[in-house]
Amino acid sequence: MKRVYNFSAGPAVLPESVLKQAADEMLDYKGCGMSVMEMSHRSKMFQTIIDEAQQDLRDLLNIPDNYKVLFLQGGASQQFSAIPMNLSKNGVADYIITGQWAKKAYQEAKKYVKANVIASSEDKTFSYIPDCSDLNVSEDADYVYICYNNTIYGTKFPEVPNTKGKVLVADMSSCILSEPINVSDFGVIYFGVQKNVGPAGVVIAIIREDLIRDDVLSYTPTMLKWKTQADANSLYNTPPCYGIYICGLVFKWIKAQGGLEAMKEINTKKAKILYDFLDSSKLFKGTVEKDSRSLMNVPFVTGDKELDAKFIAEAKEAGFENLKGHRSVGGMRASIYNAMPIEGVEKLVQFMKEFEERNL
Ligand SMILES: *Cc1c(COP(=O)(O)O)cnc(C)c1O
Repeated sequence: MKRVYNFSAGPAVLPESVLKQAADEMLDYKGCGMSVMEMSHRSKMFQTIIDEAQQDLRDLLNIPDNYKVLFLQGGASQQFSAIPMNLSKNGVADYIITGQWAKKAYQEAKKYVKANVIASSEDKTFSYIPDCSDLNVSEDADYVYICYNNTIYGTKFPEVPNTKGKVLVADMSSCILSEPINVSDFGVIYFGVQKNVGPAGVVIAIIREDLIRDDVLSYTPTMLKWKTQADANSLYNTPPCYGIYICGLVFKWIKAQGGLEAMKEINTKKAKILYDFLDSSKLFKGTVEKDSRSLMNVPFVTGDKELDAKFIAEAKEAGFENLKGHRSVGGMRASIYNAMPIEGVEKLVQFMKEFEERNL
């Protein structure tokens, strides 16, 4: 069996012990004689799986009791429309544009509400997070929207923006569970799990109860109305059962690592190895302003497209996969999510050093 170091931005690396456990339990889950894939979502067995997954997530993130946890489908992108539909009261929303995902969310919201851009870093190809300490928040904004960690550009909000009392909505697809957060700072946190948690097909939303309403925009599809799923404890229809099961295993794995404080420590260490090298390298350089750097996605370039391509090809040969940058920005990107072991980053940097010596 061969396992590579997989630096994919998503779907991404999962903890090996989780994959092994899933393999062990594939044919006969805990003596019930069937796979989790084959069992009814109304069974007691599955109810325990989803309840435990929710409880473990609540423990990890310290989610207050007045927040609901919803297991949804449709990808993070589906929430781009669900958010304005569920939160619109005045029909106004403010967006901070720090990358392609925030921009897509904004463009989608414009179909349903008056969406305003109150800050943007597009002027410098999203290589930084704008100052959000004194924004021009709209008086009647129903919410302020951010993408907390920008997967493509490798930036992360260094702190929560000052929304002047407005509800903050955050896409945390590529950074959730990488470090502790204060859930109470947000009205809605949501994430597609295929970046830092589990297999594609599950979206988890953590929503303050008072924001789960009946009086959503009138044309909101039943399936996009958060209240539908909240009232049914995420079992209004068939949920992505197997994906939820794997997420649950990952939550237990994170707990066993020591929780989010421990994850933060190891993630900081991993990112530092890579950033320190980029800062000292004569060939490679990071593309993000230092105080906006992501812990999870690290983009870099040589400045020469052919050399970038050569690096990506040689890295692949050497067992470092998926280092190509997003098709919209080029260059390289190493995504170093929770499940990437520190040896993976150490060996990548060693490889980069050798490549630099051969190519300077
Ligand atoms: C990948 C990603 C998305 C899109 O997720 P889908 O599940 O493919 O819709 C949205 N936001 C962020 C931050 C992402 O990294």
